[in-house]
Amino acid sequence: MPSPLTVLVHTPAYSQVGGALSYLSDQPLPAGTLVRVPLGQRELLGVVWDHADPGAASTALDPAKLRPITAALDALPPLTSAWRALISFAASYYQRSAGEVALAALPPQLRDLNALQLARRLKKQAKLSHPVSTETSASSKNTIDSIALTEEQTRAIGQFHSHAGPFLLFGATGSGKTEVFMRCTADLLAGSDMAQALVMVPEINLTPQLEERFKSRFSAQYGPDAVVSMHSGMTPAQRLKSWLAAHSGTARIVLGTRMAVFASLPHLALIVVDEEHDPSYKSHEGARYSARDLAIYRGKLEGAKVLLGSATPSLESWYHSRPASDGGRYLRLEMPSRVGANAVLPLVRRVDMNHQPKACVISPPLLEAISQRIANGEQSMVFLNRRGYAPVLHCTDCDWKSECPHCSAYRVFHKIDRTLRCHHCGQAERVPRACPACGNPDIAPLGRGTERLEEHLAQLLAGVTRPEGSAVRIARIDADTTRLKGSLESQLAQVHAGEVDVLVGTQMIAKGHDFRRITLVAAINPDGALFSSDFRAPERLFSLLMQAAGRAGRDASQTRRSEMWVQTFHPTHPLFEALKRHDYPAFAQSQLVERQQAGMPPFSFQALVRAEARTQEAAQAFLNAARQASAELPEAAPLLPHITLYPAVPMSIQRIANVERAQMLIESASRSALQRFLGLWQTTLHATRAQPEGKGLIRWAVDVDPLAI
Ligand code: ADP
Ligand code: ZN
Ligand code: ZN
Repeated sequence: MPSPLTVLVHTPAYSQVGGALSYLSDQPLPAGTLVRVPLGQRELLGVVWDHADPGAASTALDPAKLRPITAALDALPPLTSAWRALISFAASYYQRSAGEVALAALPPQLRDLNALQLARRLKKQAKLSHPVSTETSASSKNTIDSIALTEEQTRAIGQFHSHAGPFLLFGATGSGKTEVFMRCTADLLAGSDMAQALVMVPEINLTPQLEERFKSRFSAQYGPDAVVSMHSGMTPAQRLKSWLAAHSGTARIVLGTRMAVFASLPHLALIVVDEEHDPSYKSHEGARYSARDLAIYRGKLEGAKVLLGSATPSLESWYHSRPASDGGRYLRLEMPSRVGANAVLPLVRRVDMNHQPKACVISPPLLEAISQRIANGEQSMVFLNRRGYAPVLHCTDCDWKSECPHCSAYRVFHKIDRTLRCHHCGQAERVPRACPACGNPDIAPLGRGTERLEEHLAQLLAGVTRPEGSAVRIARIDADTTRLKGSLESQLAQVHAGEVDVLVGTQMIAKGHDFRRITLVAAINPDGALFSSDFRAPERLFSLLMQAAGRAGRDASQTRRSEMWVQTFHPTHPLFEALKRHDYPAFAQSQLVERQQAGMPPFSFQALVRAEARTQEAAQAFLNAARQASAELPEAAPLLPHITLYPAVPMSIQRIANVERAQMLIESASRSALQRFLGLWQTTLHATRAQPEGKGLIRWAVDVDPLAI
């Protein structure tokens, strides 16, 4: 007698029913088993799910009408109940179907394999993973412990072992956080034959050094396949291989980007989140999950320790790590000093642009400082957060500007291929010879991007020579120069090899890299973020500048102190005052006071509903109608006093690729009230779409704990 099964699949048409469907199976299959099931004319990958899970409540169907599953991929051990609980939680918290979240968490290639192909793949993989002899592991153990830890590192590791966590490792750039991550990982892995660790980084391409360090340290001890990577830059075949290694337990360490938070790790003992403040831990498509927040939840679920690390923590994590007596839930581990006696933090110098020649881009004192570094054979890094040559092309006669025909944004002038390119929709065309509006041949670039800055610096530094008399070498690293695979790596290698004197770039160069020879870092024009409408802009700016400053002076053998230069029209702004003292706690404190007064996160909880439509009116009408309807939901009545629903407004970039975008903010002092409300409101949003107010709507999505407002 075949028994009915609840199976999660991902198909948009079923997203309203949680993605769970019912099938029949000849043999009982445990929850977590992967299966292939028919749906209409197609065959899909699915996961056998727990009957009782309310998130997966499948519509009651007549058993006579159920179809049998096509195959069970039971050569693979079932996904654990902890993994399933993580998926269910993420789906309900981020307001998506469990089917979507579960299937997105599995490697795409798994969808294309039948039971036989999978069994073959597993056999091949099992053959590859050979046990490591105890002899090698003993000798490599010695190399691990041969680095003498600093006092601060020793204390942090001691606290890590004697407490349950979660932990926030608050350590200056260059304080040896990575060493602590590796040591804690080594200790936990040594404690059990099966224990696994998940180490997350913001963007793996930007931190190849970390990957190398983990691989070289742990493959010696646990074998070449013990450390696997997981990120979107891998081929489907590589991703499947890593996933299977983690799922089967042969991989002891998974190094990955945000997607890795969903990796199947049946013996998870530790989750490390490096640079935990980084916005790229938040997904901006599908389920808008925060991998950092899910890491905390997953740790609790699986009894794994969680270690977040940053020199500039997110204000949320900083606030959670206040003393336990004030209600803090994380334990803060502090490492304020850089490793090495001479490796002091760089001196921060502010240039008051009010007192510099009008319209100068590089102020005379900064130019002088860069010239001196070049003459000494030292490297400088100059960054500006805007790529291209100029953000706008402009006609002085008729005021024409290079607007994108499809977006509410300007197309950026790229001189190298003489194009106007929209950075939002990708629209690109050749630069017109004359003003398209009035025919004036004099159209001029307005403002400045990295491409123009590079050109400008080359002119300014034309007379400067290197110690042995040769000309200055300037290089630029941004999204435009690194489009080709491998180009970032080769450009970084040039910088490391000392083949570059001045490195120009966007924030891409400010993050993570360990540039030993750079002794001067300059932020050309960081003021924009001081007065942004986004309340998180100062937090991001401070962190970016601190990280950038952290690129300089990492070499303890330097004799001269390195410098971080900031050109600003607001030199006495508290943000720059705190930066000058490298005082993250003071900056965080002032921000938290402001946030508390304004009732902003982490003192309140937010969600955004974003709607896209052919017209702005349609996008807003949909949101406002759903807002109105929420007042009539009887179950929501007790929650509404705790919730604020703001009216719909256009998004800051209102139109992209001819699609109008609007958003509605929902706020509450209570996370659970907000969660319960959103759960109820889902039905209303779906229903509103079918109403006249939903006409013209293209799509809508909920973003819980949004990062950009
Ligand atoms: P962070 O991640 O905090 O920026 P890292 O872990 O990258 O710092 O450490 C900075 C540098 O100091 C690295 O080159 C690392 O190898 C070195 N280092 C770390 N700990 C020690 C130590 N105890 N003794 C000597 N060098 C160390
Ligand atoms: Zn004109
Ligand atoms: Zn566009």
